[in-house]
Amino acid sequence: MAIWNLGSINIDVVFSVPHIPSPGETLGSTGRKIFLGGKGTNMSVAVARAGSRVSHIGAVGADGQWTVDRLMENGVDTRFIAETEEGTGQALIAVDAQGENTIILYPGANHAIPLTNLQNALSEAETGDRFVFQNETTLQAEAAKLAKEMGLAVTYAAAPFDADAVKAVLPFCEMLFLNEVEARQLTEATGQSPADLPVDDVVITLGSKGCDWVTSRGTTHFDAMKVDPVDTTGAGDTFTGYVLAGLDQGMPMGQAIEQATRAAALMVTRHGTSDVIPDLSEVRAFRM
Ligand code: ATP
Repeated sequence: MAIWNLGSINIDVVFSVPHIPSPGETLGSTGRKIFLGGKGTNMSVAVARAGSRVSHIGAVGADGQWTVDRLMENGVDTRFIAETEEGTGQALIAVDAQGENTIILYPGANHAIPLTNLQNALSEAETGDRFVFQNETTLQAEAAKLAKEMGLAVTYAAAPFDADAVKAVLPFCEMLFLNEVEARQLTEATGQSPADLPVDDVVITLGSKGCDWVTSRGTTHFDAMKVDPVDTTGAGDTFTGYVLAGLDQGMPMGQAIEQATRAAALMVTRHGTSDVIPDLSEVRAFRM
């Protein structure tokens, strides 16, 4: 089986600054680091490091070939990443000495993924494969509909939250991943609690409090592991990628969530995003 991920690819440029700049201010940066980022990227890397086959459907500009190479080095199938005239998506991040940040997000190529790329990718998918997508690209509605018609299990990580986007894809989804804030926003937008949504499984992640798995049969809570977090960026993406990989490898949902909980806990003990997502052997060895 395989996982097909329609997802964003970003170049994260992180500037260290003494304080967050004010309007009109020119401010020197004391350091600059460049990372491979984007929710889509994180999820593909998480699935691959968890040991499952994953094909990434996305787009980069001419400046982003290194991001594709990096995904490939991680074992991700990159044949369906198009090169577009738009530049690669970028996050310009300024972080001050207190860890406060400000972010400018340029979607670029993530909003120019050709429909033919998606169609070509899914023409290779097989019934029972899983399709996952988030909200940092375009094509969500077309993709969800097409994937469902092809008999794929459609999973949606509804972040960053957008009420209209969620409403458009919900009828095609089997599984939904939300954090606590997104779950509240979805209830406000639809007037339905997670248990009443027309989706088989809803997983609500609760940060250091773990997660709730909600189905029409009831809610099961999973505690998080007790760790000293240093950077929670990418925890949710790592968690979702590991749940999908676990299911892909035949685990029951509860076991897939337990493994994902360990992977996400390990992730929050590390600085960085896709580069530091743990692999399966590290997750299996991780005991507190
Ligand atoms: P992000 O946007 O930062 O990737 P998110 O808001 O989508 O994260 P969270 O609910 O913060 O997702 O975290 C996802 C999972 O990661 C949680 O369900 C939990 O298992 C794990 N996790 C997050 N924070 C912690 C923490 N401080 N300690 C242990 N585990 C954590």
